[in-house]
Amino acid sequence: MAGNGPVRKPASALTGRLHKLGIYNDADMLLHLPMRYEDETRLVNIRDAASGASAQIEAEVEHAEVTFRPRRQLVARLRDESGTLCLRFLNFYPAIQKLLIPGQRVRAFGEVRSGFWGPEMIHPRLQAVSSGDALPQALTPIYPATAGLAQAAMRKLVLRAFGRASLAELLPDALRKSLKLAGWERSLRYLHQPPPDARLPALEDRSHPAWRRIKFDELLAQQIQLRRAYLERRSHTAAAIPALGRLTALLIAALPFALTGAQARAVDEIARDLAQPWPMQRLLQGDVGSGKTIVAALAMLQAAENGLQAALMAPTEILAEQHFRKLAGWLEPLGVTVAWLSGSQKKRERTAMLERIANGEALLVVGTHALIEDSVGLENLGLAVVDEQHRFGVRQRLALREKVSGRLPHMLMMSATPIPRTLAMSYMADLDVSVLDELPPGRTPIVTRLVADARRDEVIARVRDACREGRQAYWVCPLIEESETLQLQTAVETHETLVAELPELQVGLVHGRLKPDEKASVMDAFLRNETQVLVATTVIEVGVDVPNASLMVIEHAERFGLAQLHQLRGRVGRGAAASSCVLLYASPLSQNGRARLKAIYETTDGFEIARADLQLRGPGEFVGARQSGVPLLRYANLDTDVDLIEAAKQAAEELQARYPEAADDLLRRWYGGRSELLKA
Ligand code: ADP
Ligand code: MG
Repeated sequence: MAGNGPVRKPASALTGRLHKLGIYNDADMLLHLPMRYEDETRLVNIRDAASGASAQIEAEVEHAEVTFRPRRQLVARLRDESGTLCLRFLNFYPAIQKLLIPGQRVRAFGEVRSGFWGPEMIHPRLQAVSSGDALPQALTPIYPATAGLAQAAMRKLVLRAFGRASLAELLPDALRKSLKLAGWERSLRYLHQPPPDARLPALEDRSHPAWRRIKFDELLAQQIQLRRAYLERRSHTAAAIPALGRLTALLIAALPFALTGAQARAVDEIARDLAQPWPMQRLLQGDVGSGKTIVAALAMLQAAENGLQAALMAPTEILAEQHFRKLAGWLEPLGVTVAWLSGSQKKRERTAMLERIANGEALLVVGTHALIEDSVGLENLGLAVVDEQHRFGVRQRLALREKVSGRLPHMLMMSATPIPRTLAMSYMADLDVSVLDELPPGRTPIVTRLVADARRDEVIARVRDACREGRQAYWVCPLIEESETLQLQTAVETHETLVAELPELQVGLVHGRLKPDEKASVMDAFLRNETQVLVATTVIEVGVDVPNASLMVIEHAERFGLAQLHQLRGRVGRGAAASSCVLLYASPLSQNGRARLKAIYETTDGFEIARADLQLRGPGEFVGARQSGVPLLRYANLDTDVDLIEAAKQAAEELQARYPEAADDLLRRWYGGRSELLKA
């Protein structure tokens, strides 16, 4: 896209700085809304200025000098009829010095603090005035800025943009009135230049009607964009894969369990999608342990039954291998061959697998991202399944799609990270979603305990007890984000300690630096209960399934994210035995750390946890939303603007169907300069 995309070479330093803020044209400039406001419409006497609050005072410079103790700074004293105020500048330009001449009348805006010599302002905004100069008639907007772009310059650019950009009302009157939304131009002007009597709190928490209008339009543009992506997908062709129901029925009959209602529903939805001649794009969402793998296996079998290939891609070697075994265990008795590929496979095995894929002996393939390499022939791919899809980048997911020419494979994405409804409605709206909202029966709920680090010995005793009863335990080592080496070292040390403290047990160790076959053999020993305790780094975070393990210990739990803790905890509670998860934490806890541990302690419901996570982290980090090409929301809030999201979703259909030109204009207004980027 070089040359004609929006990523033009900056024409000037200013353009470059504006690009940094995502501003490519006048419409963008108008949508660059203030993050807060300052009230320069009134003056306060020095004596009445409250400490800790922002104020504007007008006074005469009485004295100014550069002092050198305790460090170089410019200090000035202002006086009005009520008292004196000290100004201090630790960094200053000559222009400020020139302004602070005794006798000069100035306005200073800033936060008043009580300093050593009475009230003071540090780095106030300063302006020379003459007595009687008019005060501004609007609150002063403070914009998100970048180096080299001052607020005053930004305000001028906004004013200029008001004169040049279209301010047309794009919502049909009836729609706008039924939703009780303020007018577009009026809302924009209000937010850029609120009148002196504007209610600041409503502006700052964005509940003001002007903000609601902006947020609605933002959500509407997003919904329209997503709807178009959805329709665009429907215009492609895929191989129609009807449900023949012979092998799949045999597999269901051979399973040692019955599908849950939720599984049966998902299997049905997928089977119907596969039968269509356009590509499925479905997200199978189900909490850890809800049984997504069998649903994927049935879908893959439907492809194989029709003579088409199906691939399952997993983010880690451990997980891919586990999937392979499970699938082979289920399918080989039915005469269906499954091939297996990983980056670390021995050359001979790999060649054999590639051969089996190439000659059509194995229609089903399981693997890591090794699957997307060119040497893997999947020209006949009918279905691609991506497990833990948020672990992959968009490019990797797309690469699987591009294995086939002339048509697209059906895509089934799986995720154990539950997606809050609002997030699903906004970022994931171009996907169809199946939800496994029911755990297989016979699971006992996991009990979570928060235990201070100091009581480690008791926790070791619990591990001993659990294993004595024939159970197994995981011991997860702290996440050390700054250093993988340090993390590894901790894991090795923890392993040594536990080996010494639990001489009657076998203690295994698995971490990211092990060679894949070493990893596999450690996991294998644990699966067969040859080792009872598994010391691990977060490599076991996703997917690992050892039903006999009933105790999970997580060290320095406060360092993990909520989703991660939930995933780790989900490694236990997979069998019928009562399971528990011990979260060891080091005090003192940060506020955020405390909030996370509280959330994970209080609920095992993945959706609740996801909601809490959304609040703590924001949507950008979720389910690869940031990389998905879906525009991130700048103003609307997925937690507080639920009603607007619903309204926008409905309005999107109406606008698209009855006012397609307004829909076009709306997209241009919101994404104009950047629409190319969104298609990535
Ligand atoms: P996840 O959704 O986390 O990927 P898995 O597919 O690994 O879950 O399933 C978790 C465990 O539950 C596996 O051991 C699987 O065989 C088992 N399982 C799946 N479906 C059912 C069911 N309907 N009844 C009982 N056990 C099931
Ligand atoms: Mg899984």
